[in-house]
Amino acid sequence: MNRKPNPNSRDLTIRCCECNADFIWTASEQKYYSDRNLSTPRRCPKCREARRKRASPNSYYPNSAVPDGQDYTTIMDTKRC
Ligand SMILES: [Zn+2]
Repeated sequence: MNRKPNPNSRDLTIRCCECNADFIWTASEQKYYSDRNLSTPRRCPKCREARRKRASPNSYYPNSAVPDGQDYTTIMDTKRC
């Protein structure tokens, strides 16, 4: 198949450092991260969600859309990958 590269949608495949599952980091997410100067996510959405539920009381991050960014991981990471 002949797939034309589209510079505006380059999804990346990342391997989760926690469960080793491959997940897609979509182009729109990449933009979201770069707009906010966040580092590349190391965990799949499932693990991020699990960590958030486990480690973060509602009072810390009432907004569940907080990404797995630098500040977040600095605060939350006890086990760094
Ligand atoms: Zn994972």
